[in-house]
Amino acid sequence: MTIAVYPGSFDPITSGHLNIIQRAAKIFDHLIVCVMVNSSKAPMFSQQERVDMIRSVVGDLPNVEVDSSDALLAEYAKSKGSCVIIKGLRAGSDFENEFQMALINHKINPALDTMFLTAEHQFMYLSSSTVKELGCYDVDLSDFLPEPIIPVFKQRIADIRQGGDRK
Ligand code: ADP
Repeated sequence: MTIAVYPGSFDPITSGHLNIIQRAAKIFDHLIVCVMVNSSKAPMFSQQERVDMIRSVVGDLPNVEVDSSDALLAEYAKSKGSCVIIKGLRAGSDFENEFQMALINHKINPALDTMFLTAEHQFMYLSSSTVKELGCYDVDLSDFLPEPIIPVFKQRIADIRQGGDRK
């Protein structure tokens, strides 16, 4: 059985992420979407909230599991019996960094390879940070976020704004 790990911040999961998940789920027997801790990013949603949001949109994909981890990715993949990391590549921005990470992960765990997938062209420029910027405005988010995520995301934006107003 080929097990792949798709790691990321998923803060929140976007339609671009979901498109990558759908593609990878077709290629591999089992796909583990793993919410990883990224100490350089202050998240909008807790790790558990991000896991729950991903679970709410992958229910129709029986070979997809959602997990979270604080471990080093190469070690995490090994512990799960996985030898493939899935990464999504967007137009321009991701390649250098992802290439470097792929080499480092392979160095740490020589049994581990990284496979790059592209999402549908309409998601090519989409990132969680772009969605967070748009969230501050009254923009239709249905092209950017899976439908069940939109109310949760809007509520969090409203909560943050209310918190900000009290300062
Ligand atoms: P971001 O916060 O930049 O959206 P994440 O850390 O959550 O990024 O991304 C996890 C993975 O998903 C990374 O491999 C990233 O390159 C990929 N990814 C994110 N958005 C897209 C997209 N729109 N199309 C393809 N890949 C994507």
